[in-house]
Amino acid sequence: MSPLFGAIEAGGTKFVCAVGTHPDDIRAQVRIDTDTPEVTLSEVCSFFEDAATEHGALAAIGVGCFGPVDLEQTSPTYGYITSTPKPGWANIDIVGHLIEAFGLPVGFDTDVNAAALGEARWGAGVGLHSLLYLTVGTGIGGGAIADGRILHGRMHPEMGHIPIPHDRDQDPYEGCCPYHGDCLEGLASGPALRHRWGIAANQLPPEHDAWALEAMYLGTALATFILTLSPQRIILGGGVMEQRQLFARVRHETARALEGYLRLPELHDEGLDAYITAPGLGQNAGISGALALAESAVA
Ligand code: ADP
Ligand code: ZN
Repeated sequence: MSPLFGAIEAGGTKFVCAVGTHPDDIRAQVRIDTDTPEVTLSEVCSFFEDAATEHGALAAIGVGCFGPVDLEQTSPTYGYITSTPKPGWANIDIVGHLIEAFGLPVGFDTDVNAAALGEARWGAGVGLHSLLYLTVGTGIGGGAIADGRILHGRMHPEMGHIPIPHDRDQDPYEGCCPYHGDCLEGLASGPALRHRWGIAANQLPPEHDAWALEAMYLGTALATFILTLSPQRIILGGGVMEQRQLFARVRHETARALEGYLRLPELHDEGLDAYITAPGLGQNAGISGALALAESAVA
């Protein structure tokens, strides 16, 4: 019998928790609004206690978490959310809390790394050894799979905060990143769209000028990621990418930024349609990835 795992997609707005053996075999799932850590984590624990009573003992718990987080196993703050601007959530020991409550192995990584892993296991990246998952939502973040594993370094990549060429004559908006102003996230996140145009990103019509500029920033960033990581596929998720017309524009801008330098069929014409794609798991990439993290905690 396949072991039963707990999975947590921990976000600044909501925590999605699930229990199951596989993304196609989710036995219970809940959405919990992100409140204070005390309130939220106690609801999370109650959900898993009830689910274990109903469906059986869990073998491990996986967490894909908003961050920044500490992923260094030897660090005294391993498993913590470290420096988030989210009030009350900085220096919160997520892994320690779960180990104390359940005494189970806990697989822990960033939300985008989890989504990248989920897509590699069960989604648009099946059969590939490397991919990039980029979310464009309230923030922008990237997770990479390299040689079949989540790419870690000193901590985890922070791809949303790369500098981006910014022509202030064309786009006078100063950017909304509290650290950098006009980094990628500062120029192209959902909040940046709202601040620049005065309309919520999901209310901007498909023919609005916003999307040409958005595609240019995202295409420029993707060219940088292709040149540095050489992923076999790029998966774009997050609320802003619900604008499906953006995909064609981003593909075009990515190819334009690369100027024909890389002679790969994926980067030309129809090859690009498969190369830059939506998540195969749709909205479930994150929670599926958390399940995969639980699985790898006992593998
Ligand atoms: P989060 O990043 O908070 O986890 P999302 O990925 O859903 O959540 O991103 C939320 C952001 O995406 C918001 O800024 C919102 O305006 C924007 N967004 C959500 N839906 C759409 C849409 N259909 N079109 C454009 N932007 C959207
Ligand atoms: Zn930034």
